[in-house]
Amino acid sequence: MAKTNKYALVTGGSRGIGREICLKLGGCGYHVLVNYKSNAAEAEKTLSGIRAAGGDGEALQFDVASGEESTAAIEAWQKAHEGACIEVVVNNAGIRDDVLMMWMEPQQWHSVIGTSLDGFYNVTRPLLKGMLVNRFGRIVNIVSLSGIKGLPGQANYAAAKGGVIAATKALAQEVAKKGVTVNAIAPGFVRTDMTADIDEAELRKQIPAGRFCEPAEVADLAMFLISEQASYITGEVISINGGLYT
Ligand code: NAP
Repeated sequence: MAKTNKYALVTGGSRGIGREICLKLGGCGYHVLVNYKSNAAEAEKTLSGIRAAGGDGEALQFDVASGEESTAAIEAWQKAHEGACIEVVVNNAGIRDDVLMMWMEPQQWHSVIGTSLDGFYNVTRPLLKGMLVNRFGRIVNIVSLSGIKGLPGQANYAAAKGGVIAATKALAQEVAKKGVTVNAIAPGFVRTDMTADIDEAELRKQIPAGRFCEPAEVADLAMFLISEQASYITGEVISINGGLYT
C-alpha cells in the first residue's frame, strides 16, 4: 500500500474491540497509532495484523488516565511528524472493576472513571486543534449499555460511560461547523478479555439476538461513523447490543 497521510489513533488498540478497529483502519489506508497501557506484545500483534494486510502503523504506549503521559506522548508524536494531522481518534481504552457501591473502594471508583472519562479528555483535547484547522475530524467514543441503562455493581463504570456520553453530545455541538463529528458507540456484551469472566451460556438467554457481539461488528460500526458517508451524523449514541435494551 502506498504511504498514507491519513493518521488515526486508537486508545486500547492492543486487544479486543480496539484491535479490530485498528485492523479495519489499517485496511482503509490509515497509518494507525496503536495505543496501549502495558501489553506491548499484544500491541505488536495488532501491528503485525495491520502490516500483514498491507497497511502500516506504530505502537504508542501511554496511560490515558494520566494527563501528563497522554499530552507528552501525543505532543512528542506531533513534533516528530510536523504537518501531519491525526484526523481520527477512537477513545476505546476502558476497564471495569465491578463491585456493589457499598463495598467500592475509592481506588475502584477513580481508576475506572480515570480510564474512560479522564482518558477521553486527556487524549481528545490535544488532538482537537489539528482537526479544527484541517476542517475534518472523526471522534468515536466507545461507551457501554451500562452508561445508558446503568447496571448493578457498575456505579463506577456506568458513571464513567455516562459522563463520556454527555461529553460526546456537548463536544459535537462545539465542533460541528468545522467538519468534525463526535459520536459514541454503546455495545452490550462483546466477546473480549473484558467479558472472559462472564458466563456467556447463561447470559445470552437474556439477549434477544441469542449471542454475544463479536469485536469486528463493533469495529464495522466505528468504520461507518469514521467514513465520509457519516458526515451528517454527530452527537449520537448508537447502541449495538443484539436487542438487549432499546
Ligand atoms: P479489553 O479486551 O479488556 O481491552 C482493553 C484495552 O484497553 C487494552 O488494549 C488495554 O491495554 C487498554 N487499556 C486499558 N486501560 C488503559 C489505559 N489506562 N491506558 C491505555 N490503554 C488502556 O477490552 P474491550 O472489551 O475490547 O473493551 C474496549 C472498550 O469497549 C472499553 O472502553 C470497554 O469499556 C468497552 N465495552 C466493552 C464491552 C464488552 O462487552 N467487552 C461492552 C461495552 C463496552 P493493555 O493491553 O496494555 O492492557
